Amino acid sequence: MAYKTDIEIAREAKKKPIQEIGAKLGIPSDDLLPFGHDKAKVSAEFIAAQRNKEDGKLILVTAINPTPAGEGKTTTTVGLGDGLNAIGKKAAICIREASLGPCFGMKGGAAGGGYAQVVPMEDMNLHFTGDFHAITSAHNLLSAMIDNHIYWGNELEIDQRRVVWRRVLDMNDRALRDIVTSLGGVSNGFPRQAGFDITVASEVMAILCLALDIDDLQKRLGDIIVAYRRDRTPVYCRDIKADGAMTVLLQQAMQPNIVQTLENNPAFVHGGPFANIAHGCNSVVATTTALKLADYVVTEAGFGADLGAEKFLNIKCRKAGIAPSVVVLVATVRAMKMNGGVAKADLGAENVDAVKNGCPNLGRHIENLKSFGVPVVVAINHFVTDTDAEVQAVKDFVASQGSEAILSKHWEFGSEGSKDLATRVAQIADADMASFAPIYPDEMPLFEKVETIAKRIYRADEVLADKKIRDQLKQWEEQGYGNLPVCMAKTQYSFSTDPNLRGAPVGHSVPVREVRLSAGAGFIVVICGEIMTMPGLPRIPSAEAICINDDGVIDGLF
Ligand code: ADP
Ligand code: MG
Repeated sequence: MAYKTDIEIAREAKKKPIQEIGAKLGIPSDDLLPFGHDKAKVSAEFIAAQRNKEDGKLILVTAINPTPAGEGKTTTTVGLGDGLNAIGKKAAICIREASLGPCFGMKGGAAGGGYAQVVPMEDMNLHFTGDFHAITSAHNLLSAMIDNHIYWGNELEIDQRRVVWRRVLDMNDRALRDIVTSLGGVSNGFPRQAGFDITVASEVMAILCLALDIDDLQKRLGDIIVAYRRDRTPVYCRDIKADGAMTVLLQQAMQPNIVQTLENNPAFVHGGPFANIAHGCNSVVATTTALKLADYVVTEAGFGADLGAEKFLNIKCRKAGIAPSVVVLVATVRAMKMNGGVAKADLGAENVDAVKNGCPNLGRHIENLKSFGVPVVVAINHFVTDTDAEVQAVKDFVASQGSEAILSKHWEFGSEGSKDLATRVAQIADADMASFAPIYPDEMPLFEKVETIAKRIYRADEVLADKKIRDQLKQWEEQGYGNLPVCMAKTQYSFSTDPNLRGAPVGHSVPVREVRLSAGAGFIVVICGEIMTMPGLPRIPSAEAICINDDGVIDGLF
């Protein structure tokens, strides 16, 4: 049987006007700022007016360590949201916006898949409502003002070798990773080494996603460290006097976007920070607004649970004062097989033993998530090639861990396929079983925070760090940054820092290569291994296949 592509399904969507979608959540049309007929921003005034309302239940969707087989967190988030609505619950979903980099690089959209998608998927994967462009502009305004400050006499005594604020672009462009700026003569300034990151790696993106409101946004922008002086004292964005204008550029982008699922249910799509050097989930404003308006809010954290859920729980929940009632851990038979040693090309053949061999990865994630005090249910995101025996093997394993796994067929059937999952998830959420707590307190020393995550989540024996790195952490503690959470940047493919170590490795160590202070976002980035903040395009980028076809519609976008 031939299956339609995501874009073919999306094109057939029977979308409702965005005002009707907003009305489902009680948003009056005056408080919707429409972008065309099927996208809108929710006004800041309306959001502020919801402040004292009671929150709905938060449901976090996360996954096992990703494999090239694909896990389908977004697809499951959308499918579960539709499933909840189908069983009569008032539910909304919250996901991230898409970056143009991956869109034109490696195949894979950000709007879900099959019959569990958010529409308009073309817009969502392209310019959408311009938020990322606003973030790019705000970031680069600060870059321009730093160089301009140096050009006009450098009153702040910035050490030009220690400008840490780079430039950003929402594109995969390896040519811009390391560059020299201000070449060409005296009137162009002082040449120095600089470079570009992708917009989703910008600290402005992380700030927009963590800020509670526009005042908090401006304060955090002001807190950004842009450079150091010769005596190593920091120069802040506030010193450059860029925070006000940056806030103006971001005012509209701060308001969350709503769109709809294929089944016309409300979806907040807002913000999109990297999941390595940042925390990897949609904005606090979108999530907290959705919680005021819906009884159930389904949201997704990037990468596997060791990174995405850990940061969602330790960073976002801590900062926003929210907590999930239940966590849905997405697993697929295919990914279990890959964790069990099967190559991608051989995934088609039934292999129950490989499924069983791969399950320890799932088991460890279950254990980890429970250690945050939240109930966990496993969603088996069904692929049509899965056999009954393979599905049963996953269910049996999960049962042996004292949890339950529910097969969900939302990709193939939409909410018709996810009702079982939705029913059980709603039951657990309603039972108020969670007693959530982050796994480390604010006041724990920074290095101990890293050790806590490495030992309790990654199950490493030790964290390796040079004296230089430990001294840097101590210095930040002395400067008053010791209360910040840590944001781990490591490979998403393994619990360890070695991407090839699948399953549930033990006995490994976590080497810390570098630490960075994101003073505006409010976390310490701990880099373990190679982390790319400006990706390159693959040999055959998906851009080659993207075009406007003879019918005048977009083709090749997944
Ligand atoms: P994640 O959020 O974990 O990165 P997505 O939900 O975006 O994953 O899914 C990645 C890709 O896998 C999408 O193109 C989607 O269509 C596909 N996919 C997800 N679930 C299924 C499934 N059950 N069967 C077939 N393809 C799927
Ligand atoms: Mg996703």
